[in-house]
Amino acid sequence: MTLRRLPETTVNRIAAGEVIERPASAVKELVENSLDAGAHRIEIVLREGGRSLIAVDDDGQGMNAADLALCIERHATSKLPDDDLMAILHLGFRGEALPSVGAVARLRIDSRHAGTDTGWAIQVDGGKVSAPEPSSRARGTRVEVRDLFFATPARLKFLKTDRAEFGATLDMIKRLAMAHPDVGFTLKDDQRTAFQAGAEQGELLDARAARIARIMGREFVENALVVEAEREGVRLTGLAGVPTYNRGNATQQYMFVNGRPVRDKLFTGAVRGAYQDFLSGGRHAVLALFLDVDPAFVDVNVHPAKAEVRFREPGVVRGLIVGGLRSVLAAAGHRASTTVAGQALGAFRQGTLPETPRFAMPMGGRGGSYAPAHSSAAAREAYANWQDPGGACGGGVAESGGREFIDPSGRVEMVDEDGATPSPEFPLGVARGQVHGTYIVAQTTEGIVLVDQHAAHERLVYERMKRQLGESGVARQGLLLPEVVEMDEGHVDRIAARAEELAALGLILERFGPGALVVRETPALLGQCDVRGLLNDLADELSEFDQTTGLQDRLQDVCSTMACHGSVRAGRRLNAAEMNALLREMERTPHSGQCNHGRPTYVELHLSDIERLFGRR
Ligand code: ADP
Ligand code: MG
Repeated sequence: MTLRRLPETTVNRIAAGEVIERPASAVKELVENSLDAGAHRIEIVLREGGRSLIAVDDDGQGMNAADLALCIERHATSKLPDDDLMAILHLGFRGEALPSVGAVARLRIDSRHAGTDTGWAIQVDGGKVSAPEPSSRARGTRVEVRDLFFATPARLKFLKTDRAEFGATLDMIKRLAMAHPDVGFTLKDDQRTAFQAGAEQGELLDARAARIARIMGREFVENALVVEAEREGVRLTGLAGVPTYNRGNATQQYMFVNGRPVRDKLFTGAVRGAYQDFLSGGRHAVLALFLDVDPAFVDVNVHPAKAEVRFREPGVVRGLIVGGLRSVLAAAGHRASTTVAGQALGAFRQGTLPETPRFAMPMGGRGGSYAPAHSSAAAREAYANWQDPGGACGGGVAESGGREFIDPSGRVEMVDEDGATPSPEFPLGVARGQVHGTYIVAQTTEGIVLVDQHAAHERLVYERMKRQLGESGVARQGLLLPEVVEMDEGHVDRIAARAEELAALGLILERFGPGALVVRETPALLGQCDVRGLLNDLADELSEFDQTTGLQDRLQDVCSTMACHGSVRAGRRLNAAEMNALLREMERTPHSGQCNHGRPTYVELHLSDIERLFGRR
């Protein structure tokens, strides 16, 4: 065995394995160098996904002949003037990128230092350096990387298709461009310009907003909330999409620390935590968040590619992100995504009337076509419930102040509350009717709102329950007559085992001999409820939970189940006062714009949209 020092080229190739993983990471290093050099305009060209050529051209401060000779040497950097790793102010500092690229590809750097009168070029071919020679470069730096990984064929094999590699680079450029709105970026391949963003004007925040709109789209900006929070010297700013504006993956989550794009578990975890109440498992928030912190409190030197960061106080950062996001989401209240109305409008437009008229007169020969049999039966039942609300749990329904007309088919209920005019005070409008026992139609100052009463109620129950749990405990109401519910013994066991937890959620019950439970009190916020149905569903639900899962950890599910048996379930006829009470509560309640699964609880159509539907505009 001979112990020896590895030759520089080998060391650089090993380092390259960590720093330069694929074309996108080479582009990242080169573009960061341009940014560190104070460039205002950066142009990137890729050929074959970056495999045959990567060229990055900037108008930064450039390098002179001596700099050029040094910059391709290992650990040569201009960015740590006093060797202080606690004060990292540039994107680079490791002095590894250029020697790494030079070791695994054919590298050419052509540059002219500002204030000198000749440009210089240098070439490194798989680690072989040639002497600098004069060039005709007018200003800034151009770096060309040809035949990436030709010197490390093993790595070459791991590259994906040209298109996938180009896509990864495009994503990288978008992230860098978002962090540096005052710099113009262009990304091209052989055929086309894939991305272009001119330098944005104005103050940082305005420029950033413009850049975000350019990259993530106007629609996102219109559906986003402004985030601004600060804690112990750490500042969080940015835009966070309302929960109903969500995506099937997390690619639309842009996060930055001190102007450096990061993909960090702490960030993604905190974002998931903040949105957890509003999004079901497979959906992801859309956002752009910028964290600014004293460089001494963050370590960007965790990984050679610097995509991960480590904070000195991760708890503070996590708390800031979760708290900052939650508070804007709460302040946004019932706001749902505007694209929801757009989708609704699209759906309306696609509608075509059937050949045969469906709207036959109820008294005419075609009686059956007026309303599907099942729906009119359901409607009749709903109507009966409304007439006699003393259902399973007893109690009454608030009297309506308005007049009500029951359509003979039982499908549409018109209400017209005297004196109830839409006003800006009521963003969700004044209830005008209920259709199919399920949707509330309300008139606003600017259009109409359709509310899914069941989804909305589910959300309200959840929010109220959370609030009450956090304050004085969930309020209960006693049943006039305790209700005995017979069930199979397995179900009884399962529920009885959770009696204590259920009591905390407002449901007081106990075992009642074999195969039965007796319920004495129910959560007041459910109003009159169907106890039997509730217990059956709870038992089903519990059979899916792990023994060790606390009910409070699954509060969303439990509340959904409870809400299903509360007084405002779908198919339940509501009078005007009840509908308006629901709308007002939605306006007051944070997060009521989406149900527990991230679906909207209401859609709004502006008069202008409706006019467009009818070709009036
Ligand atoms: P680092 O960025 O960590 O310092 P690099 O290997 O990426 O290491 O670059 C080495 C040095 O080369 C930099 O410190 C900088 O002085 C110089 N350099 C690289 N690219 C440019 C550029 N586009 N414009 C001006 N100087 C550059
Ligand atoms: Mg660098």
